[in-house]
Amino acid sequence: MTAATAPITQDVLTIPRKAPPKAGDGRVNLVGLTRDGLRAALLEAGTPERQANMRTSQVWQWIYQKGVRDFAAMTSLAKDYRALLSARFVIAVPEVARRQVSSDGTRKYLVRIDGGHEVEAVYIPEDGRGTLCVSSQVGCTLTCPFCHTGTQKLVRNLTAAEIVGQIMVARDDLGEWPAPGRHPKDETRLLSNIVLMGMGEPLYNFGNVRDAMKIAMDGEGISLSRRRITLSTSGVVPQIARTAGEIGCLLAVSFHATTDEVRDRLVPINRRWPIATLLDALRAYPKLSNSERITFEYVMLDGVNDSDEDAYRLIEHIRGIPAKVNLIPFNEWPGAPYKRSGDARIRRFADIIHKAGYASPVRTPRGEDIMAACGQLKSASERARKAVRRGAS
Ligand code: SAH
Ligand code: SF4
Repeated sequence: MTAATAPITQDVLTIPRKAPPKAGDGRVNLVGLTRDGLRAALLEAGTPERQANMRTSQVWQWIYQKGVRDFAAMTSLAKDYRALLSARFVIAVPEVARRQVSSDGTRKYLVRIDGGHEVEAVYIPEDGRGTLCVSSQVGCTLTCPFCHTGTQKLVRNLTAAEIVGQIMVARDDLGEWPAPGRHPKDETRLLSNIVLMGMGEPLYNFGNVRDAMKIAMDGEGISLSRRRITLSTSGVVPQIARTAGEIGCLLAVSFHATTDEVRDRLVPINRRWPIATLLDALRAYPKLSNSERITFEYVMLDGVNDSDEDAYRLIEHIRGIPAKVNLIPFNEWPGAPYKRSGDARIRRFADIIHKAGYASPVRTPRGEDIMAACGQLKSASERARKAVRRGAS
């Protein structure tokens, strides 16, 4: 097939590395453990106390700086110590069940986790760098009616290993484990930013999200700056201050409406923590400086939340908060009860916000040919499987 007739979408079945060890063989996975957790595990396995800190650092670096999955390759460790580790532990990341590459370079990974569940992670390249959108739960307890994930029940929280594992499998796929001793700057990395904007509400899985992000930020490993990690929440107010204190990453809020009446419908968590309460929590979010603005996400739904009055009310709400407004043209999905606002409407809305002094970029839809919107790949693959089952019976 010539390039001209090649399909724009590649569907590639990839298992980038050796299949992870089978669960249930009794060995403990080291991925996802905090540094203290790793140290405790190594001590328990018989590492002498006086060597524990050094061994923790060494194993940590092999896993998170060099991307090694096999203890035998940890050549800075004595052979019998490597054997001891492989008898007790595994280094397991989720399996990539399916990878799709869009004509615009967006890569979507369907990641299979224990229990036969699947979540998705999406890599969006931009100017030599790129952002990985990471999931935090299978499904979601919340029921925002415009969001496809909201139509799926919460199955379970992801573990820290499964969250940081999404970053690790994306690095596998991008071939981005640096050679020993090299430590590329964030700016020159293919995977330079993380957004917690995949499936699920990260602040309802706080501990695991925190541990995974701490691992991603650790300077001896993946080493991403906290300013390159953005956590998106629908507005779990009591956890917002904790996010600042315990993770320290940037914050995005799914705002989406400018009156409680409309937000109660679009983002039902608003009935518990209404707009005024949410804004108080955002005003109190520390480290607010111009380079660390809060992102207000605003999905543009035709005739629902996209009037000029909405734009003016939004400006009133965010006054005094270092903020930018990310306008997201609604990503339609089959059966969705809303339509995307027209281009002219979105431009006008963006203009009003911009004139008030706030950045108001309109998010360009990416990876539309591979359905890279929240929750879509998983449901598409489920539909395909159901169709196969129907065909078989
Ligand atoms: N649960 C968190 C993070 C995951 S959703 C949250 O709600 O913030 C990530 C972002 O995608 C949110 O702003 C969400 O409102 C938005 N989103 C979900 N479905 C969408 C759709 N179909 N079109 C456009 N944006 C959508
Ligand atoms: Fe859950 Fe966020 Fe989707 Fe709402 S928008 S249903 S909080 S994933």
